[in-house]
Amino acid sequence: MDMPETQRWTEAEVAALYRMPLLDLVFEAAEVHRRHHDPQEIQMCTLASIKTGGCPEDCAYCPQSSRYDTSVESDKMMKVDEVLDAARAARDAGSTRFCMGAAWREVNDGRAFERVLDMIRGVRDLGLEACCTLGMLTGDQARRLAEAGLTAYNHNLDTSADYYGSIITTRTYQERLDTIGHVAAAGIKVCCGGILGMGEAQADRIRLLQTLASLDPQPESVPINALVPIEGTPLQNQAELDIFEWVRAIAVARILLPKAMVRLSAGRLTISAEAQALAFLAGANSIFTGEKLLTTPNPEKDFDQSLLARLGLRARVPDKEASHHQGTAAADGRSRPAENGVPAAVA
Ligand code: SF4
Repeated sequence: MDMPETQRWTEAEVAALYRMPLLDLVFEAAEVHRRHHDPQEIQMCTLASIKTGGCPEDCAYCPQSSRYDTSVESDKMMKVDEVLDAARAARDAGSTRFCMGAAWREVNDGRAFERVLDMIRGVRDLGLEACCTLGMLTGDQARRLAEAGLTAYNHNLDTSADYYGSIITTRTYQERLDTIGHVAAAGIKVCCGGILGMGEAQADRIRLLQTLASLDPQPESVPINALVPIEGTPLQNQAELDIFEWVRAIAVARILLPKAMVRLSAGRLTISAEAQALAFLAGANSIFTGEKLLTTPNPEKDFDQSLLARLGLRARVPDKEASHHQGTAAADGRSRPAENGVPAAVA
């Protein structure tokens, strides 16, 4: 399907793309990918849970919600030094982006937020890109994150606006869009994606992708999560998604958001090496490394390194933007959201 890459996509156009013969879709996505990215390069990201569990929200997939009886305990917030030790280890293992997730409904001003700002400064001083996922935030809080040097803020839409109410009732879709707007207005890159396999229809996946592509500016980063059903959550018995639906979504994300990093996030542990290879061909160019994604298991480092080596791919090295951190994001131009640049259980 020959379509200009910068157009505003209608739902019908996205649906037509999504429903193409799979290999034609992957072929087209691969062509788009090669025009905008180095196809051999994969960015490794590490996600740390800096405040685990005890969240008042009711996201039906999330073991960190205090409403569900899961094996996740509520922990105290990590100390800055602990987080920086983890960031250093992630960098030494090849990650160039370090993401920090807190199981909060929203950011509250005060000591915990000040501590997050210190973590961001420390992560940037290690030469890493810094990303946070802290729940909803205000415009002023977004500006303070930008001043601390935050590279990107993750806030997923999770699913389509239509299906959203079946998954979360404690915040609205519009509130999510508002937070994303504050992040973009502060000059922080937007990381925004969704979760597949929560019982949504194919049409919901199509609408989610269309909504993501319609964000202005488009997200610099699009995490595509596959649900990991966790015992104790309302989605614990959810049937597994057809893996080719996952590949289709990745390919369509690549075509609709040609400059974005498309990140394989939660759910990778149960996805075969062959399917992941197909996802890379379809335009995925980032993976999360580390044993856990917040609270869900993730492939081991050896598996990832071996997979990249077997496929002839290589990990992205730190770019100048991340490794020459000086001053604020706004001051050095690092945070232009339209520039090219988390996981199921992230806010
Ligand atoms: S996804 Fe985030 S906001 Fe939702 S329950 Fe889990 S930690 Fe809370």
